[in-house]
Amino acid sequence: MTQEPHEQIFADALKRLDRAAEFADLGKEVLLRLKSPKSVLDVSIPVRMDDGSLQVFHGYRVRYDDTRGPTKGGIRFHPDVHVGEVKALAFWMTCKCAVVGIPFGGGKGGVIVDPKQLSRLELERLSRGFIERIADFIGPDTDVPAPDVYTNAMIMGWMMDEYSKIHRKRTPAVITGKPIPLGGSLGRDDATGRGAYYCIKELERIRGWNPAEIRVAVQGFGNAGQHVARLLHADGYRIVAVSDSHGGILRPEGLDVPRTIELKNQGRTIGAVYTTRSVCECPVCGDEDCHCNSDDVGSGEVISNEELLELDVDVLIPAALENQITAENAGRISAPVVIEVANGPTTSEADQTLNENDTLVVPDILANAGGVTVSYFEWAQNQAGYSWSEDDVHERLQRIMTQEFNTIYQLADDKHIDMRTAAYVHALNRIGEAVEAQGTSRFFAPGDNE
Ligand code: NAD
Repeated sequence: MTQEPHEQIFADALKRLDRAAEFADLGKEVLLRLKSPKSVLDVSIPVRMDDGSLQVFHGYRVRYDDTRGPTKGGIRFHPDVHVGEVKALAFWMTCKCAVVGIPFGGGKGGVIVDPKQLSRLELERLSRGFIERIADFIGPDTDVPAPDVYTNAMIMGWMMDEYSKIHRKRTPAVITGKPIPLGGSLGRDDATGRGAYYCIKELERIRGWNPAEIRVAVQGFGNAGQHVARLLHADGYRIVAVSDSHGGILRPEGLDVPRTIELKNQGRTIGAVYTTRSVCECPVCGDEDCHCNSDDVGSGEVISNEELLELDVDVLIPAALENQITAENAGRISAPVVIEVANGPTTSEADQTLNENDTLVVPDILANAGGVTVSYFEWAQNQAGYSWSEDDVHERLQRIMTQEFNTIYQLADDKHIDMRTAAYVHALNRIGEAVEAQGTSRFFAPGDNE
């Protein structure tokens, strides 16, 4: 039976679970429990549009597993949101929180909407309306949302405010990724890119890289992609290509990353809320005939997203959406190292090809875990009424990312498995310990060989 692509994402996520279970110290009950989400909420959200008409949007919130703590995961606004995809994302969050050892389970949410078609007021009404629908499902000690694709700090602020109004109590710890004045954490904005950067710094140490010789391509130049590119560029890495949903730029000599970020972000047509201008429209290369301002950053070649993935570079960083490296193009990926900043950019069939070609893939549940780690710091600060300095946040994040990267790298080496499988093994061992601590058939029916 063929599955819908979005159901396929969830089925694919479970395949990785089965593979990792072969190497983990895991009872069969744990595996059984992890194959289905704890609960799935399906909501409709009526929104009064600016022209007076009513539009009804649909959304989901999935709480996948809360054995290790409250469920944690972002809310995505995207026209392609599907419950199968949200379940897969919530499953990944469960594993990701266990990979970095923070006391959270996994969850995720999404609303089917193209936010670029909404006015700011419509966007605010939709954000508050979604919270009104899920207010009994979330909470600082049960389920804690955060930003994801096409949601941001301002939206998290509206959502926290709406939850607080419903509960008649200011509750900053219900959501993370908030603006700083509303209880956000310093260092949350660049945490995902920074976490990936700390992983790359460990590889640099292990492999003895000279940054100036390392060519990097970044697919997806949003929050996560821009920050990892910025930090690597500052250390002397050569960022030769970047792209967004409209396409990319290649400049073998290396891009001026800070200027590219500045130019891209100047193109935001609805102010601070969304970036609608594409990298290709920016003056680094212009749209095909554009030569404006190219002097200050040099010129580049326009390439497609497909071409970017297949470039002859040393490090490829997919930082956009799922399913970018597939069975179809995996054989043409020439980068020996792939750092998965996006969630689920590689399909399980593609994994096989990449492994056969000895490509080192630092998997999403490790490479992009910096975001949720600093979200945990934000939640902890809100719960305790503290505010940490940016240096403090960076130092704590570096400690966690470095330690977990090295544990997983070593596990992969010891068990002769790829880093993705090793990351899942590491996560499953931690989740398994928590489940076992509540008692399984090993305790209740000792004769059962589980
Ligand atoms: P974002 O909305 O800020 O940026 C996404 C970028 O990807 C934009 O530049 C967009 O134009 C580009 N894009 C969209 N479709 C594309 C395509 N088909 N090809 C190339 N580029 C495309 O989102 P973000 O927060 O940077 O998230 C990017 C990825 O990182 C997502 O997979 C997200 O789940 C993951 N992630 C983000 C965080 C975080 O804290 N921001 C944390 C963990 C994981």
